[in-house]
Amino acid sequence: MRAEDKKTIFYILIAYTFSVAMRFIWVYQFGDYAPFHFNGQFMINTNDGYYWAEGARDLLSGTATNPDAKEFYDKFHQFNDLSPVSTAAAQLTAFFAKILPFSFESVIFYMPVFLSSLVVIPIILIARVLKNLEMGLIAALLASIAWSYYNRTMAGYYDTDMLNIVLPMFLLWSIIWAVKTNKDIYLLLTALDILVYRWWYPQSYSLEFSFFGLILAYALLFDRKNLYNYKLLAMMMFAMMNTHELIRLGFVLAAFYTFKQEKYDKYLYYILGASILGFFITGGFDPIWGQLHGYVFRDSISSENKGLGLHFFTVMQTVREAGHIPFETFANRISGNVVVFILSVLGYIYLLYKQRIMIFSLPLVGLGFLAYVGGLRFTIYAVPVLAFGIAFLITEFSEKFIKQIGAQGTQAKRLKFLLMTILTLGVLYPNYKHIDAYKVPTVFNANEVKVLTDLGKKAHRDDYVISWWDYGYPIRYYADVKTLADGGKHSGSVNFPVSFMLTHTQKEAANMARLDVEYTENKFKFQKEHKKEIEDKNLTIFSNIEEMTKDYGFKNTNDFLHTLSSDIKLPKKTRDIYFYLPYRMINIYPTVTLFSNINLMNGAKGKQPFFFASRNFKDLGSKIQLAQNVFLDKRTLQLTLGNKTVPIRRFVKTYYDKSMRLHKDVQLVNFSSDISVIYMQNYNTFLVVDEKTYNSLYIQLMVLENYDKNLFEPVILNPSAKVYKLKI
Ligand code: MN
Repeated sequence: MRAEDKKTIFYILIAYTFSVAMRFIWVYQFGDYAPFHFNGQFMINTNDGYYWAEGARDLLSGTATNPDAKEFYDKFHQFNDLSPVSTAAAQLTAFFAKILPFSFESVIFYMPVFLSSLVVIPIILIARVLKNLEMGLIAALLASIAWSYYNRTMAGYYDTDMLNIVLPMFLLWSIIWAVKTNKDIYLLLTALDILVYRWWYPQSYSLEFSFFGLILAYALLFDRKNLYNYKLLAMMMFAMMNTHELIRLGFVLAAFYTFKQEKYDKYLYYILGASILGFFITGGFDPIWGQLHGYVFRDSISSENKGLGLHFFTVMQTVREAGHIPFETFANRISGNVVVFILSVLGYIYLLYKQRIMIFSLPLVGLGFLAYVGGLRFTIYAVPVLAFGIAFLITEFSEKFIKQIGAQGTQAKRLKFLLMTILTLGVLYPNYKHIDAYKVPTVFNANEVKVLTDLGKKAHRDDYVISWWDYGYPIRYYADVKTLADGGKHSGSVNFPVSFMLTHTQKEAANMARLDVEYTENKFKFQKEHKKEIEDKNLTIFSNIEEMTKDYGFKNTNDFLHTLSSDIKLPKKTRDIYFYLPYRMINIYPTVTLFSNINLMNGAKGKQPFFFASRNFKDLGSKIQLAQNVFLDKRTLQLTLGNKTVPIRRFVKTYYDKSMRLHKDVQLVNFSSDISVIYMQNYNTFLVVDEKTYNSLYIQLMVLENYDKNLFEPVILNPSAKVYKLKI
């Protein structure tokens, strides 16, 4: 083995071990913290991860192979349960869980650690072709743990991010090596990488297409006579067609076979032409066009459907404006520190100047800088490329510095090594500090998971569990049931009924639950049975609320909603419905209300309900301070808000006895008041709520366990989360 090969492997091993080790910091910080564990393993800390986990779990659960057969659903998953069994993340996870001797929980928790660290390989290999392996090592050390890359690939951050940078970096590596060496093998590797990348992350087309454009420009401007470039472009086009993976693989292999033989070179332009034709005919350009179109004609989407034109609240309205990201945040997330970031940018420009081939890395930097307009999650794309920038600066500076002071021989080598080590540690330090301080919790705690796994044993897999969309994926993963809303299904029209149920009376909630579940299932059925018609005639699919309104003979949704507080004729019951009500929802209750506190007919928002939760209260003797300007007088039970003093309607105290049964003392104070105070003793929480909130399903069932015996039946009453079954 050549010395350079040995060094390459050695550097890769160092960087990989370092990357993995840094991700174990979190693991050791929470090593014996029971609430973060389930089944003897850590739980994951990203909500979306439960989506892929559900798919992987279902894939492992059965052996049927025909997805259209009824048995497929019986063995794997249920009709319309939205389990992502056909996604790459679920498939790869199932594969690992099958071949590795670890528990499923361990596999999903550690996958990001070991997969994301692979990013060091293409980084070091790219540096190798630039004849600067030390730069590769330094860049790999930094990129693997840089702020945003760490955040999105840490232990338990089980999401597609774990390969979303690794795969394009491998693509960049094979493109650079292809253009540099013109070896046939890189034609194949480039195409295969595109196939894998597309399989893993279907939205990868824009990055692939920018790479393609750059290579095309390079070929036409600087290297027009070199047939190799056109072979590379044809291979990429075939790999980027919009058809099934296996068909693309077939074309890629056939083209590779042809390109390897010189006698076929005369057909090259025909093959390139065919690949471009194939790309456009299969609609390879459509998603790119769709995106451009979306930017240019942003507001021209007209709604010509003849519906009621309902106005829903959208999730985007609750997410803080994507608008301006402070420069410091942006810089920190890419390089860990503003100074390092600025040096990285300068170093990168210097590197581009010295090593023109690095121009091919521009699409990644471009995508990373999109974070400025498109949101923080894009920053990770710029991380590895800008790490090259600072690494190049460090190696160049050390080299020049040694020359300057006139050191020679072994002494010069040692001095250079020392200098590079010190500078590298300086660059790594802010990122290490970030990791050490980044103590994110798991998505759920052990108690909540216990509730869900118990529920899974009681509920049928076709039953629905209603809860806010934030909890959708974990509910489906742990209980294997269906949900109305989840991390991917939470538009205003989907959230409206769920928000309505949680924030309205038990009667209204019960009626709406039965309606929305049956309408949801019927809609799936309709869409499946009329698939062709819907596509051909471009039929509008109306919201459930709209369909209900019309079915019950109303033109005004508000009139329909009013009837829900009475006994109405409900659709036939096809399955059981459960409500999952976690204590933690108190934190987002005001947000939950927004989605149904809106007049659907004209979009006017309703008056914000009074809702206030305090865990930071102080007992001042005669009164309790709930917040800076909020006091409760213990004797008169009057509430002082700023300079206003109001009586309260009731004071309720809840507490658990030794056998964990909830008790409540209700003290009626003043019937003319609209405000009630609830002291949840064991939760160390005060709630101050208006009458509408007090009567909401969430407060009545979760906080007070005041359920209407005709409508609900308690199933699990854990202090962390309560589950009720709908009786109608
Ligand atoms: Mn299922």
